[in-house]
Amino acid sequence: MANRVAFIGLGTMGYPMAGHLARRFETLVWNRTASKAQAHAQQFGSYAVTDLRETAAAEFLFTCLPTSVEVEAILEQLLPALKPGTLWVDCTSGDPQHSRRLAQRLRERGCDFLDAPVSGGKAGAEAGTLTVMVGGSRESYERALPVIGAFAGKVFHVGDVGAGHAVKAVNNMLLAIGLLSAAEGLATLAKLGVDPAVALEVINVSSGRSFSTEVHFPERVLTRQFPNTFSLALLAKDTRIAVAMAREAYVPAPLMQLAAEMFEMAKAQIGGDVDHTAVVKLIESWAGVQIAPRSE
Ligand code: NDP
Repeated sequence: MANRVAFIGLGTMGYPMAGHLARRFETLVWNRTASKAQAHAQQFGSYAVTDLRETAAAEFLFTCLPTSVEVEAILEQLLPALKPGTLWVDCTSGDPQHSRRLAQRLRERGCDFLDAPVSGGKAGAEAGTLTVMVGGSRESYERALPVIGAFAGKVFHVGDVGAGHAVKAVNNMLLAIGLLSAAEGLATLAKLGVDPAVALEVINVSSGRSFSTEVHFPERVLTRQFPNTFSLALLAKDTRIAVAMAREAYVPAPLMQLAAEMFEMAKAQIGGDVDHTAVVKLIESWAGVQIAPRSE
């Protein structure tokens, strides 16, 4: 069992995930904006460190940063301080190729790496019920399992290093395609005079349903709230990773390509900081209609 863990990146996901770890283990936390680490220490009893290198005292090092680029920058700073045997668990939705390079650098120092991206959103992170897809050696996976379990509902070992990030990128590509296709379909129905709320009731007990129709549209679109829990820029990044993977594997993937392009266009037009579901507003503006319940 872990003596000490460290968590780097207390964003929407990392903050509550590190909170669950702190309830079970001695947990060091570091964040670029230090005030968040201090707030975390007060809320969960973790230990806020201001010098990143202090996190190297932990046996398990967690990262949850926007992309693999930020993970690599942190690794560059930490590498000289890492002790052999340290297990780096990267919960970022990262890039498999990048992860394989990071894992190699860590192995040269006697450390190991697991890519362990998560699914379940802010709500799942707060409830400690995230789905975690892990890539890496079986031995390191088994070593990390009791620690990852602090914030997970389901944990899967999906293959070697990079496999976790690969599964996550495809999952999020399916989310992106589901969101775009549901928006186009519902905008069409709204324009033809069908109440989108009624159409969703039908679709959600029929074969066209998806996470988007079951969750996003009822909770975020019909309510017109679009709460910002997962940024459009981050989903655009996931679609880019999925397209790069398809290219690398010589898999023709025109749908994935189109979805990635649409998210890049959306990012350019409405900005990356909005919630990913705000892409629906763009489709609404092209269609000249709003996907909202009809007022009788
Ligand atoms: P946020 O934008 O909320 O948080 C990002 C975190 O990374 C913050 O702690 C931020 O620090 C830190 N950070 C950003 N840039 C740097 C940098 N250059 N150096 C050091 N630290 C940096 O992201 P999320 O928590 O939403 O997402 C994190 C990862 O999890 C992403 O890969 C995302 O795709 C994935 N994910 C997100 C989900 C969601 O619903 N939000 C669901 C599942 C996966 P600071 O506080 O200083 O800004």
